Amino acid sequence: MIHVEKLTKYYGDFCAVNGIDLDVRTGEITGLLGPNGAGKTTTLRMLTGYLEPTSGTIRVDRHDTSTDMLSIKRLMGYLPESAPLYHNMLVYDYLDYVARIRGLADGKKDERIRAMADLCGLRGIMHKPVGELSKGLKQRVGLAHAMIDDPQVLVLDEPTSGLDPNQIVEIRDIIRTIGRDKTIILSTHILSEAEATCDRIVIIDRGRIVADGSTEMLKQGAGHDRTISLTLAGVDAAQAKAMLSDLPGITGIDEEPSGAPGELRLTLAATGTDDLRAAVYRAVRATDWTLLELRQEGKSLEKVFRELTQEA
Ligand code: ATP
Repeated sequence: MIHVEKLTKYYGDFCAVNGIDLDVRTGEITGLLGPNGAGKTTTLRMLTGYLEPTSGTIRVDRHDTSTDMLSIKRLMGYLPESAPLYHNMLVYDYLDYVARIRGLADGKKDERIRAMADLCGLRGIMHKPVGELSKGLKQRVGLAHAMIDDPQVLVLDEPTSGLDPNQIVEIRDIIRTIGRDKTIILSTHILSEAEATCDRIVIIDRGRIVADGSTEMLKQGAGHDRTISLTLAGVDAAQAKAMLSDLPGITGIDEEPSGAPGELRLTLAATGTDDLRAAVYRAVRATDWTLLELRQEGKSLEKVFRELTQEA
């Protein structure tokens, strides 16, 4: 649905976005994840036509932003980082106003306002002034605004920024509901947010994409490093360590303090794409040791993120 090639933005001689290539597919919630100043907002503002790229191309559903921005704007709903709401308007009047601006005919307009009130949980506050709402409720009004004319593509810049944990869950649920049949790209610098909301995570750092994939792929893809923890009973520690460290793909072995007498707890460092639990199991089965526990852990997304975005 969105196809971006070599997208670049300079502010003066500072390069904020540096040759990004990106495809965003329908029915997928894509999270643009990166530290402060990574270039997320700049990228989203270029996608939505609010900022002119220095170079590169953006196509949305076959329309090119450089020649056909009007068609693209019709396909897109945009929630900027601080939603530009009119604070002295009632919520209903505000949504009525944006629906008119987006060209909805009267019958359709009322139907969409009702649908958005239900989806975003605004029913009880339709006659309150926008300025009196909490930040979470304002954000829900901003989402209703972005979706009022049922756009194919939704671009959400830090949709949960500044919200409390309950509000975050509410907004996340709304996004996941919409994401079933829309194309959504959102930015965040909060890892747990990206992990919980997005089907795919694109990590951006200093204007460049440094990783792209599902949460699982990112965890596994970063060097394929992981650990295997196992607990054995009835073993000779030195013999067990020698045997297990000889298995292909095992790069290190540590003995952990064991809570129970007669038990040996080991942590094996593993690399490569194979799941080494089967090899460990088979090696233990060939002995008379007892295998009490066997567990493999990938890298946490937080570790991957820190490795990819830490200062050079
Ligand atoms: P945040 O999470 O803090 O919002 P971001 O990833 O959205 O960050 P951008 O706002 O896109 O990052 O900014 C990328 C870089 O470009 C930053 O170093 C920022 O200071 C710089 N920048 C952004 N807007 C301008 C501007 N109008 N003029 C000059 N530099 C800018």
